[in-house]
Amino acid sequence: MADSMDLVQERAEEMRQRNIATVLNKQRQPSRSFCIDCDASIPELRRRTLVGVERCVHCQQITEAKSKHFKGKV
Ligand SMILES: [Zn+2]
Repeated sequence: MADSMDLVQERAEEMRQRNIATVLNKQRQPSRSFCIDCDASIPELRRRTLVGVERCVHCQQITEAKSKHFKGKV
């Protein structure tokens, strides 16, 4: 049964690497000047602090709250 355990660990490692790659790709995108959700201008300090930022503080909070709610359900 050692073989199947190795396979499971290999899959988990592969998925972990893929997640890391996704995060790194996201961070390479330039920050947006305007929020993708409400078109509000995003302050320069926020754009410089969070590379690849897409939303204003307000919409980001809503998005995070929604994703937390979704995760809690599943
Ligand atoms: Zn917004």
